[in-house]
Amino acid sequence: MGNNARIKQVVELTHDVKEFTLIAADEFNFVPGQFVTIKIDDGLPATCYRAYSVADYNSETLEFKMIVKIVEGGRGSGYLNKLKEGDKVEFVGPSGKFFIQERETPIIMMCTGTGIVPFLSFLNILKNSKRTVRLFWGLRHEKDIYYEDLLKKYKETFSDFDYYISLTKPENDTYDGLKGRITDHLDLFSEYNGGDYYLCGNGEMIDQIKQLLGDMGIDRIFYEKF
Ligand SMILES: Cc1cc2nc3c(=O)[nH]c(=O)nc-3n(C[C@H](O)[C@H](O)[C@H](O)COP(=O)(O)OP(=O)(O)OC[C@H]3O[C@@H](n4cnc5c(N)ncnc54)[C@H](O)[C@@H]3O)c2cc1C
Repeated sequence: MGNNARIKQVVELTHDVKEFTLIAADEFNFVPGQFVTIKIDDGLPATCYRAYSVADYNSETLEFKMIVKIVEGGRGSGYLNKLKEGDKVEFVGPSGKFFIQERETPIIMMCTGTGIVPFLSFLNILKNSKRTVRLFWGLRHEKDIYYEDLLKKYKETFSDFDYYISLTKPENDTYDGLKGRITDHLDLFSEYNGGDYYLCGNGEMIDQIKQLLGDMGIDRIFYEKF
C-alpha cells in the first residue's frame, strides 16, 4: 500500500552516507529487517523505485530512519541526496522477509557498507535478549565508520554482544584493528556453528561468505542482497 512521509531530519554520517529521519503520514506494520520502497520522483519519464532498509521505526510517532549510501551517478541515492527537511516522499511497504528467527541460539550478523541497516533494527529488538549476538561489519576506510558509539553502548548494555569492524583499505598508520575482507576472518565465528548467520550487503560478498560458511558446515544462513 502506498504511503507518504515527510523528511524530519537529514544527518551526514560520513562523506558518502546520510541518515534520513522521516515521519510517515499513515501508520504501518514493521518487522525488523524489512525495507521500504521509495518512489524516485526526480521528474524523469520512467518511474523508478529503490529499496531502503529501515533502521528504526517508532509506531507511536510514526518516525522511521533510513541510512543511504550516496552512489556517484546513482539515480535513487542522487534523488535522496538532494532532499531537505520538510520535503515529502512517497513509499511502498515495508516489505521483505529478512527476519530474526525465534530461537535461543547465537546470532551472527555479517555485513558490508550500508548492509548494517537491517541489523540496526535487529539490534533494537535484541536489547533485552539473553542470546549471544555478534556483528561483523566490513568497510573500506576509517572515514566510512559511523554509529560506533551505539555499537559500543550495546556492547556494554547487552547481555552478550560484541562487534568487529574490518577495513579493506585503512589509511592511518596507527590503525590497529582488523584488516581485510570479512571472508578473511570467518574463523572468528566458527565457534558459533549451530547459530543463525545473517548476511547483508553486496551480493558478490554474500555469495562468497555463504560458500565459505557452507564449507565450514554452517547451514543456517539467511541473507539480503543489496
Ligand atoms: C532489499 C534492499 C534493501 C536496501 N537497503 C539499502 C539501504 O538501507 N541503504 C542503501 O544505501 N542502499 C540500500 N539498498 C540499495 C538501494 O536500493 C539502491 O540500489 C542504491 O541506493 C543504489 O541506487 P541508485 O539508484 O542510487 O544507483 P543506480 O542508478 O541504480 O546505480 C548507479 C551505479 O552505481 C552502482 N552502485 C549501486 N549501488 C552501489 C553501491 N552500494 N556502492 C557502489 N556502487 C553502487 C551501480 O552498479 C551503477 O553502476 C537496498 C537494496 C535492496 C534490494
